[in-house]
Amino acid sequence: MKVTLINPPWQFYSPSKLYPLGVSYLASHLIHCGFDSIDILDLNFEISDTQDVLKKSVEIVESRNANILGITCWTVHLLFCIEFVRVYKRKHPDVKIIMGGVHASSQPEEIMKLCPVDIVVRGEGEETIVSLLRAIEKNNDLNEVHGISYRKDKEIRHTPDRPLIKNLDEIPYPAYHLLEPIEKYQPLNRKYVFSLIASRGCPYKCIFCSANRLWKYQRRRNPKNILGEIKWLKDNYDVGFLRFEDDGLTNKRDWALEFFVSLKELSIHFDCLTRIDKVDSELLLAMRDAGCIGVYHGIESASPRLLKLLRKGFPKWVNIEYIKKTIAEEVSLGLVPTVSAMIGIPTETKKEIQLTFDLVCELKRLGAKTQLWLMTPYPDTEAVSLYKEELIMIDRWKELKQFDVFSTVPREAYSHLIKKYSYLVPDNWIFRNDINDFREMKMLYLSGASRILGELEFV
Ligand code: SF4
Repeated sequence: MKVTLINPPWQFYSPSKLYPLGVSYLASHLIHCGFDSIDILDLNFEISDTQDVLKKSVEIVESRNANILGITCWTVHLLFCIEFVRVYKRKHPDVKIIMGGVHASSQPEEIMKLCPVDIVVRGEGEETIVSLLRAIEKNNDLNEVHGISYRKDKEIRHTPDRPLIKNLDEIPYPAYHLLEPIEKYQPLNRKYVFSLIASRGCPYKCIFCSANRLWKYQRRRNPKNILGEIKWLKDNYDVGFLRFEDDGLTNKRDWALEFFVSLKELSIHFDCLTRIDKVDSELLLAMRDAGCIGVYHGIESASPRLLKLLRKGFPKWVNIEYIKKTIAEEVSLGLVPTVSAMIGIPTETKKEIQLTFDLVCELKRLGAKTQLWLMTPYPDTEAVSLYKEELIMIDRWKELKQFDVFSTVPREAYSHLIKKYSYLVPDNWIFRNDINDFREMKMLYLSGASRILGELEFV
Protein backbone atom coordinates (compact mmCIF):
# COMPACT_ATOMS: atom_id res chain seq x y z
CA MET A 1 0.00 0.00 0.00
CA LYS A 2 1.57 3.29 -1.08
CA VAL A 3 0.12 6.41 0.51
CA THR A 4 0.74 9.97 -0.64
CA LEU A 5 -0.43 12.74 1.68
CA ILE A 6 -1.11 15.94 -0.23
CA ASN A 7 -1.02 19.54 0.94
CA PRO A 8 -3.03 21.35 -1.76
CA PRO A 9 -2.31 24.82 -3.12
CA TRP A 10 -4.26 27.71 -1.64
CA GLN A 11 -7.06 28.46 -4.09
CA PHE A 12 -5.11 27.65 -7.22
CA TYR A 13 -2.77 30.60 -7.27
CA SER A 14 -1.58 31.67 -3.87
CA PRO A 15 1.20 29.36 -2.65
CA SER A 16 1.40 28.92 1.10
CA LYS A 17 4.72 28.80 2.89
CA LEU A 18 3.15 27.39 6.03
CA TYR A 19 4.37 23.99 7.15
CA PRO A 20 1.73 21.39 6.39
CA LEU A 21 1.67 20.29 10.02
CA GLY A 22 -1.53 18.26 9.67
CA VAL A 23 -0.16 15.82 7.08
CA SER A 24 3.27 15.83 8.78
CA TYR A 25 1.69 14.58 12.01
CA LEU A 26 -0.35 12.00 10.11
CA ALA A 27 2.75 10.75 8.32
CA SER A 28 4.81 10.42 11.50
CA HIS A 29 2.00 8.56 13.25
CA LEU A 30 1.51 6.20 10.30
CA ILE A 31 5.25 5.47 10.16
CA HIS A 32 5.25 4.92 13.93
CA CYS A 33 2.41 2.40 13.50
CA GLY A 34 4.32 0.39 10.89
CA PHE A 35 3.23 1.84 7.55
CA ASP A 36 6.44 2.19 5.60
CA SER A 37 5.42 3.58 2.24
CA ILE A 38 4.27 7.08 3.11
CA ASP A 39 5.24 10.30 1.42
CA ILE A 40 4.13 13.94 1.55
CA LEU A 41 3.53 16.06 -1.51
CA ASP A 42 3.28 19.79 -0.84
CA LEU A 43 1.86 21.10 -4.10
CA ASN A 44 2.52 24.69 -3.03
CA PHE A 45 6.16 24.07 -3.88
CA GLU A 46 5.76 21.78 -6.85
CA ILE A 47 3.96 24.33 -9.00
CA SER A 48 5.88 27.44 -9.82
CA ASP A 49 3.34 29.45 -11.81
CA THR A 50 -0.38 30.01 -11.92
CA GLN A 51 -1.02 28.36 -15.28
CA ASP A 52 -2.71 24.97 -15.46
CA VAL A 53 -2.37 24.35 -11.75
CA LEU A 54 -4.94 21.56 -11.77
CA LYS A 55 -3.46 19.76 -14.77
CA LYS A 56 0.08 20.00 -13.40
CA SER A 57 -1.06 18.86 -9.96
CA VAL A 58 -2.70 15.78 -11.43
CA GLU A 59 0.49 14.92 -13.35
CA ILE A 60 2.70 15.37 -10.30
CA VAL A 61 0.43 13.23 -8.12
CA GLU A 62 0.31 10.56 -10.84
CA SER A 63 4.10 10.42 -10.81
CA ARG A 64 4.00 9.29 -7.15
CA ASN A 65 2.10 6.13 -8.12
CA ALA A 66 0.17 5.93 -4.87
CA ASN A 67 -2.86 3.72 -4.50
CA ILE A 68 -4.14 5.83 -1.60
CA LEU A 69 -4.21 9.63 -1.58
CA GLY A 70 -4.89 11.65 1.55
CA ILE A 71 -5.72 15.32 0.95
CA THR A 72 -6.00 18.12 3.49
CA CYS A 73 -9.02 20.31 2.88
CA TRP A 74 -9.32 23.66 4.64
CA THR A 75 -11.77 26.15 3.22
CA VAL A 76 -8.96 27.84 1.31
CA HIS A 77 -8.27 24.53 -0.43
CA LEU A 78 -11.85 23.61 -1.19
CA LEU A 79 -12.19 24.68 -4.79
CA PHE A 80 -8.95 22.97 -5.75
CA CYS A 81 -9.80 19.78 -3.84
CA ILE A 82 -13.20 19.41 -5.48
CA GLU A 83 -11.82 19.85 -8.99
CA PHE A 84 -8.77 17.71 -8.32
CA VAL A 85 -10.79 14.76 -7.01
CA ARG A 86 -13.21 14.96 -9.94
CA VAL A 87 -10.38 14.79 -12.47
CA TYR A 88 -8.22 12.27 -10.62
CA LYS A 89 -11.03 9.80 -9.96
CA ARG A 90 -12.12 10.01 -13.59
CA LYS A 91 -8.60 9.00 -14.67
CA HIS A 92 -7.84 6.61 -11.81
CA PRO A 93 -11.07 5.15 -10.43
CA ASP A 94 -9.17 2.50 -8.43
CA VAL A 95 -7.11 4.96 -6.41
CA LYS A 96 -8.77 5.58 -3.06
CA ILE A 97 -8.99 9.25 -2.16
CA ILE A 98 -9.37 10.25 1.49
CA MET A 99 -9.99 13.84 2.55
CA GLY A 100 -9.46 15.39 5.98
CA GLY A 101 -8.90 18.81 7.53
CA VAL A 102 -11.17 21.42 9.03
CA HIS A 103 -13.48 22.05 6.07
CA ALA A 104 -13.89 18.40 5.17
CA SER A 105 -14.53 17.57 8.84
CA SER A 106 -17.36 20.03 9.17
CA GLN A 107 -18.99 19.54 5.76
CA PRO A 108 -18.44 15.85 4.87
CA GLU A 109 -21.83 15.32 3.27
CA GLU A 110 -21.54 18.43 1.08
CA ILE A 111 -18.03 17.52 -0.08
CA MET A 112 -19.00 13.94 -0.89
CA LYS A 113 -21.88 15.23 -3.00
CA LEU A 114 -19.66 17.74 -4.79
CA CYS A 115 -16.95 15.28 -5.78
CA PRO A 116 -16.35 11.51 -5.84
CA VAL A 117 -14.00 11.46 -2.83
CA ASP A 118 -14.17 7.96 -1.30
CA ILE A 119 -13.81 8.73 2.40
CA VAL A 120 -13.76 11.80 4.63
CA VAL A 121 -11.85 11.60 7.91
CA ARG A 122 -13.65 13.86 10.38
CA GLY A 123 -11.82 15.62 13.20
CA GLU A 124 -8.48 14.59 14.65
CA GLY A 125 -6.88 12.33 12.07
CA GLU A 126 -3.95 10.41 13.56
CA GLU A 127 -5.79 7.45 15.08
CA THR A 128 -8.54 7.41 12.47
CA ILE A 129 -6.17 7.19 9.50
CA VAL A 130 -4.34 4.24 11.06
CA SER A 131 -7.60 2.31 11.72
CA LEU A 132 -8.86 3.24 8.28
CA LEU A 133 -5.78 2.06 6.39
CA ARG A 134 -5.73 -1.18 8.39
CA ALA A 135 -9.39 -1.74 7.53
CA ILE A 136 -8.72 -1.05 3.84
CA GLU A 137 -5.69 -3.39 3.87
CA LYS A 138 -7.75 -6.23 5.34
CA ASN A 139 -10.80 -5.40 3.25
CA ASN A 140 -12.86 -4.97 6.43
CA ASP A 141 -16.18 -3.16 6.58
CA LEU A 142 -15.49 0.56 7.09
CA ASN A 143 -18.43 0.69 9.44
CA GLU A 144 -15.97 -0.35 12.18
CA VAL A 145 -13.82 2.75 11.73
CA HIS A 146 -15.03 5.60 13.92
CA GLY A 147 -14.68 9.21 12.73
CA ILE A 148 -15.24 8.73 9.00
CA SER A 149 -17.85 9.35 6.32
CA TYR A 150 -17.79 6.86 3.45
CA ARG A 151 -19.82 5.45 0.59
CA LYS A 152 -21.67 2.16 0.63
CA ASP A 153 -24.50 0.93 -1.60
CA LYS A 154 -24.67 4.34 -3.27
CA GLU A 155 -25.27 6.00 0.10
CA ILE A 156 -23.10 8.31 2.16
CA ARG A 157 -22.66 6.85 5.63
CA HIS A 158 -21.22 8.44 8.76
CA THR A 159 -19.67 6.39 11.56
CA PRO A 160 -19.77 7.77 15.14
CA ASP A 161 -17.26 10.50 16.05
CA ARG A 162 -13.94 9.27 17.41
CA PRO A 163 -12.97 10.57 20.87
CA LEU A 164 -10.06 13.01 20.90
CA ILE A 165 -6.59 11.63 21.69
CA LYS A 166 -6.13 11.93 25.45
CA ASN A 167 -2.37 12.21 25.63
CA LEU A 168 -0.86 14.42 22.92
CA ASP A 169 2.64 13.44 24.07
CA GLU A 170 2.10 10.03 22.48
CA ILE A 171 2.01 11.52 18.99
CA PRO A 172 5.46 11.47 17.40
CA TYR A 173 7.03 14.74 16.22
CA PRO A 174 5.99 15.81 12.71
CA ALA A 175 7.70 13.97 9.85
CA TYR A 176 9.79 16.91 8.68
CA HIS A 177 12.12 14.53 6.84
CA LEU A 178 9.33 14.03 4.29
CA LEU A 179 9.26 17.78 3.57
CA GLU A 180 12.88 18.06 2.47
CA PRO A 181 14.43 20.31 1.33
CA ILE A 182 13.20 22.19 4.38
CA GLU A 183 14.77 25.43 3.11
CA LYS A 184 11.75 25.99 0.90
CA TYR A 185 9.66 26.86 3.96
CA GLN A 186 12.10 29.47 5.21
CA PRO A 187 11.57 33.20 4.83
CA LEU A 188 14.53 35.00 3.30
CA ASN A 189 17.20 36.45 5.58
CA ARG A 190 15.83 34.80 8.68
CA LYS A 191 17.07 31.98 10.84
CA TYR A 192 15.25 28.71 10.33
CA VAL A 193 11.60 29.11 11.29
CA PHE A 194 9.52 26.15 12.44
CA SER A 195 5.89 25.86 13.45
CA LEU A 196 5.01 24.10 16.64
CA ILE A 197 1.81 23.11 18.40
CA ALA A 198 1.97 22.95 22.19
CA SER A 199 -1.74 22.31 22.60
CA ARG A 200 -4.80 21.49 20.54
CA GLY A 201 -8.17 23.16 20.86
CA CYS A 202 -9.74 26.05 22.66
CA PRO A 203 -12.14 25.98 25.60
CA TYR A 204 -13.99 29.13 24.49
CA LYS A 205 -17.12 29.17 22.37
CA CYS A 206 -16.91 32.23 20.12
CA ILE A 207 -19.82 31.87 17.73
CA PHE A 208 -17.87 32.76 14.58
CA CYS A 209 -14.96 30.37 15.13
CA SER A 210 -14.60 26.76 14.06
CA ALA A 211 -11.87 25.85 16.59
CA ASN A 212 -14.27 24.82 19.32
CA ARG A 213 -16.39 22.75 16.95
CA LEU A 214 -13.44 20.71 15.77
CA TRP A 215 -11.45 20.37 18.99
CA LYS A 216 -14.13 20.90 21.66
CA TYR A 217 -11.69 21.62 24.52
CA GLN A 218 -7.99 22.29 25.00
CA ARG A 219 -5.39 19.59 25.55
CA ARG A 220 -1.82 20.54 26.32
CA ARG A 221 1.41 18.68 25.79
CA ASN A 222 3.81 18.22 28.66
CA PRO A 223 6.38 21.07 28.59
CA LYS A 224 9.15 18.41 28.67
CA ASN A 225 7.76 16.83 25.52
CA ILE A 226 7.66 20.21 23.73
CA LEU A 227 11.19 21.07 24.84
CA GLY A 228 12.28 17.68 23.52
CA GLU A 229 10.84 18.59 20.13
CA ILE A 230 12.58 21.97 20.14
CA LYS A 231 15.94 20.37 21.04
CA TRP A 232 15.36 17.83 18.28
CA LEU A 233 14.65 20.68 15.82
CA LYS A 234 17.79 22.47 16.97
CA ASP A 235 19.94 19.37 16.54
CA ASN A 236 18.53 18.43 13.17
CA TYR A 237 17.55 21.70 11.51
CA ASP A 238 19.37 24.51 13.28
CA VAL A 239 16.04 26.13 14.16
CA GLY A 240 16.28 29.80 15.15
CA PHE A 241 12.65 30.89 15.42
CA LEU A 242 9.46 29.17 16.50
CA ARG A 243 5.92 29.99 15.55
CA PHE A 244 3.46 28.55 18.06
CA GLU A 245 0.27 27.72 16.15
CA ASP A 246 -1.86 27.17 19.27
CA ASP A 247 -5.22 28.92 19.53
CA GLY A 248 -4.29 30.16 23.01
CA LEU A 249 -0.80 29.43 24.30
CA THR A 250 -1.33 31.01 27.73
CA ASN A 251 -4.89 29.88 28.46
CA LYS A 252 -3.65 27.91 31.47
CA ARG A 253 -1.44 30.28 33.39
CA ASP A 254 0.51 27.81 35.57
CA TRP A 255 1.30 25.59 32.62
CA ALA A 256 2.40 28.60 30.56
CA LEU A 257 4.67 29.97 33.30
CA GLU A 258 6.33 26.59 33.81
CA PHE A 259 6.78 26.23 30.07
CA PHE A 260 8.27 29.72 29.58
CA VAL A 261 10.74 29.24 32.43
CA SER A 262 12.02 26.02 30.84
CA LEU A 263 11.99 27.49 27.34
CA LYS A 264 14.29 30.31 28.43
CA GLU A 265 17.16 27.84 28.70
CA LEU A 266 16.96 27.02 25.00
CA SER A 267 17.66 30.62 23.87
CA ILE A 268 15.23 30.71 21.00
CA HIS A 269 12.87 33.39 19.69
CA PHE A 270 9.20 32.77 19.08
CA ASP A 271 5.82 34.34 18.48
CA CYS A 272 2.40 33.08 19.51
CA LEU A 273 -1.29 33.76 19.64
CA THR A 274 -3.22 34.16 22.86
CA ARG A 275 -6.25 35.90 24.33
CA ILE A 276 -5.66 39.37 25.71
CA ASP A 277 -7.36 38.43 29.00
CA LYS A 278 -4.90 35.55 29.38
CA VAL A 279 -1.78 37.67 29.83
CA ASP A 280 -0.63 39.76 32.79
CA SER A 281 2.55 41.58 33.79
CA GLU A 282 4.29 38.55 35.30
CA LEU A 283 3.36 36.29 32.41
CA LEU A 284 4.38 38.83 29.77
CA LEU A 285 7.75 39.23 31.44
CA ALA A 286 8.22 35.45 31.53
CA MET A 287 7.24 35.27 27.85
CA ARG A 288 9.67 38.00 26.90
CA ASP A 289 12.48 36.39 28.91
CA ALA A 290 11.73 33.05 27.26
CA GLY A 291 12.35 34.64 23.83
CA CYS A 292 8.91 35.86 22.75
CA ILE A 293 9.05 38.71 20.26
CA GLY A 294 5.51 38.78 18.91
CA VAL A 295 2.06 38.12 20.32
CA TYR A 296 -1.27 38.06 18.48
CA HIS A 297 -4.62 38.87 20.12
CA GLY A 298 -8.11 38.64 18.66
CA ILE A 299 -9.90 41.55 20.31
CA GLU A 300 -12.79 41.38 17.78
CA SER A 301 -14.70 44.55 18.76
CA ALA A 302 -14.59 47.54 21.09
CA SER A 303 -18.26 47.12 21.92
CA PRO A 304 -19.00 45.16 25.12
CA ARG A 305 -22.46 44.37 23.75
CA LEU A 306 -21.01 42.79 20.61
CA LEU A 307 -18.34 40.89 22.52
CA LYS A 308 -21.16 39.36 24.53
CA LEU A 309 -23.11 38.59 21.37
CA LEU A 310 -20.02 36.90 19.91
CA ARG A 311 -19.60 34.92 23.18
CA LYS A 312 -15.98 35.96 23.29
CA GLY A 313 -15.96 35.11 26.98
CA PHE A 314 -13.94 38.13 28.14
CA PRO A 315 -14.35 38.80 31.86
CA LYS A 316 -15.95 42.13 32.84
CA TRP A 317 -12.62 43.79 33.57
CA VAL A 318 -11.55 43.50 29.93
CA ASN A 319 -12.45 46.93 28.63
CA ILE A 320 -10.89 49.45 26.28
CA GLU A 321 -8.60 50.77 29.00
CA TYR A 322 -7.35 47.28 29.85
CA ILE A 323 -6.68 46.52 26.18
CA LYS A 324 -4.74 49.76 25.68
CA LYS A 325 -2.76 49.24 28.88
CA THR A 326 -1.84 45.66 27.92
CA ILE A 327 -0.75 46.63 24.41
CA ALA A 328 1.34 49.51 25.79
CA GLU A 329 2.94 47.13 28.29
CA GLU A 330 3.76 44.60 25.59
CA VAL A 331 5.35 47.33 23.46
CA SER A 332 7.37 48.59 26.43
CA LEU A 333 8.68 45.05 27.00
CA GLY A 334 9.93 44.97 23.42
CA LEU A 335 7.24 42.63 22.10
CA VAL A 336 5.41 43.33 18.84
CA PRO A 337 1.69 42.90 19.52
CA THR A 338 -0.73 42.30 16.66
CA VAL A 339 -4.42 42.86 17.26
CA SER A 340 -7.24 41.63 15.10
CA ALA A 341 -10.74 43.15 15.11
CA MET A 342 -13.73 42.92 12.82
CA ILE A 343 -16.77 44.85 11.76
CA GLY A 344 -19.94 43.56 10.15
CA ILE A 345 -21.07 41.79 13.30
CA PRO A 346 -24.82 41.11 13.23
CA THR A 347 -26.84 43.99 14.75
CA GLU A 348 -23.73 46.23 14.89
CA THR A 349 -24.54 49.93 14.85
CA LYS A 350 -22.62 52.77 13.20
CA LYS A 351 -21.57 53.94 16.64
CA GLU A 352 -20.13 50.53 17.47
CA ILE A 353 -18.25 50.40 14.18
CA GLN A 354 -16.82 53.82 15.02
CA LEU A 355 -15.76 52.57 18.47
CA THR A 356 -13.89 49.62 16.95
CA PHE A 357 -12.22 51.84 14.35
CA ASP A 358 -11.15 54.25 17.07
CA LEU A 359 -9.72 51.47 19.20
CA VAL A 360 -7.83 49.84 16.33
CA CYS A 361 -6.31 53.19 15.36
CA GLU A 362 -5.41 53.95 18.97
CA LEU A 363 -3.69 50.57 19.33
CA LYS A 364 -1.75 51.26 16.16
CA ARG A 365 -0.60 54.56 17.64
CA LEU A 366 0.54 52.65 20.72
CA GLY A 367 2.76 50.44 18.57
CA ALA A 368 0.59 47.43 17.74
CA LYS A 369 0.23 45.94 14.30
CA THR A 370 -3.46 46.02 13.52
CA GLN A 371 -5.82 43.98 11.42
CA LEU A 372 -9.41 44.90 10.69
CA TRP A 373 -11.59 42.33 8.98
CA LEU A 374 -15.12 42.05 7.76
CA MET A 375 -16.78 39.31 9.78
CA THR A 376 -17.01 36.18 7.65
CA PRO A 377 -18.40 33.39 9.78
CA TYR A 378 -17.73 29.91 8.56
CA PRO A 379 -20.95 28.33 7.19
CA ASP A 380 -21.09 25.69 9.91
CA THR A 381 -20.72 28.01 12.91
CA GLU A 382 -23.30 29.14 15.43
CA ALA A 383 -23.10 32.70 14.07
CA VAL A 384 -24.80 31.51 10.91
CA SER A 385 -27.53 29.49 12.59
CA LEU A 386 -28.26 32.21 15.16
CA TYR A 387 -28.19 35.22 12.84
CA LYS A 388 -29.53 33.87 9.56
CA GLU A 389 -31.67 36.96 9.07
CA GLU A 390 -28.81 39.42 9.51
CA LEU A 391 -26.43 37.62 7.19
CA ILE A 392 -26.33 37.39 3.46
CA MET A 393 -25.20 34.34 1.60
CA ILE A 394 -23.25 34.96 -1.55
CA ASP A 395 -23.32 32.13 -4.02
CA ARG A 396 -19.66 32.21 -4.90
CA TRP A 397 -19.35 29.16 -7.07
CA LYS A 398 -22.72 28.66 -8.67
CA GLU A 399 -21.86 25.28 -10.01
CA LEU A 400 -20.40 24.07 -6.74
CA LYS A 401 -23.21 25.51 -4.61
CA GLN A 402 -20.72 26.82 -2.11
CA PHE A 403 -21.70 29.85 -0.08
CA ASP A 404 -19.90 32.58 1.73
CA VAL A 405 -21.70 34.27 4.55
CA PHE A 406 -21.36 37.97 5.11
CA SER A 407 -22.92 40.48 7.37
CA THR A 408 -25.38 42.85 5.75
CA VAL A 409 -23.70 45.93 7.23
CA PRO A 410 -23.94 48.41 4.35
CA ARG A 411 -20.84 50.10 3.06
CA GLU A 412 -22.31 53.49 4.05
CA ALA A 413 -21.94 52.40 7.65
CA TYR A 414 -18.18 52.52 7.48
CA SER A 415 -17.18 54.42 4.32
CA HIS A 416 -16.99 57.76 6.15
CA LEU A 417 -14.62 56.13 8.65
CA ILE A 418 -12.33 54.88 5.92
CA LYS A 419 -12.18 58.46 4.69
CA LYS A 420 -11.63 59.87 8.14
CA TYR A 421 -8.84 57.46 8.95
CA SER A 422 -7.24 57.32 5.53
CA TYR A 423 -4.00 58.59 7.06
CA LEU A 424 -3.94 55.81 9.63
CA VAL A 425 -5.25 52.63 8.10
CA PRO A 426 -4.74 49.26 9.73
CA ASP A 427 -1.85 47.14 8.48
CA ASN A 428 -4.20 44.51 7.09
CA TRP A 429 -7.81 44.80 6.16
CA ILE A 430 -10.20 43.23 3.78
CA PHE A 431 -12.14 46.20 2.51
CA ARG A 432 -10.64 49.05 0.56
CA ASN A 433 -11.46 52.58 -0.52
CA ASP A 434 -12.03 51.62 -4.12
CA ILE A 435 -14.68 48.95 -3.70
CA ASN A 436 -18.34 49.69 -4.17
CA ASP A 437 -19.87 46.84 -2.31
CA PHE A 438 -18.87 43.63 -0.60
CA ARG A 439 -19.09 41.64 -3.80
CA GLU A 440 -16.11 43.49 -5.22
CA MET A 441 -13.82 42.33 -2.48
CA LYS A 442 -11.24 39.70 -3.09
CA MET A 443 -13.79 36.96 -3.10
CA LEU A 444 -11.47 34.03 -3.39
CA TYR A 445 -9.83 35.00 -0.15
CA LEU A 446 -13.09 35.40 1.67
CA SER A 447 -13.67 31.78 2.17
CA GLY A 448 -13.06 30.88 5.73
CA ALA A 449 -13.38 31.64 9.37
CA SER A 450 -11.84 34.88 10.58
CA ARG A 451 -8.94 33.00 12.09
CA ILE A 452 -7.96 31.73 8.64
CA LEU A 453 -8.36 35.16 7.14
CA GLY A 454 -6.13 36.53 9.86
CA GLU A 455 -3.16 34.79 8.33
CA LEU A 456 -3.49 36.50 4.97
CA GLU A 457 -2.19 39.80 3.78
CA PHE A 458 -4.48 41.77 1.56
CA VAL A 459 -2.86 45.12 1.01
S1 SF4 B 1 -11.81 32.92 18.45
FE1 SF4 B 1 -10.08 32.30 19.72
S2 SF4 B 1 -10.89 32.26 21.81
FE2 SF4 B 1 -12.65 32.21 20.43
S3 SF4 B 1 -13.12 30.03 20.14
FE3 SF4 B 1 -11.77 30.66 18.45
S4 SF4 B 1 -9.72 30.16 19.14
FE4 SF4 B 1 -11.04 30.18 20.95
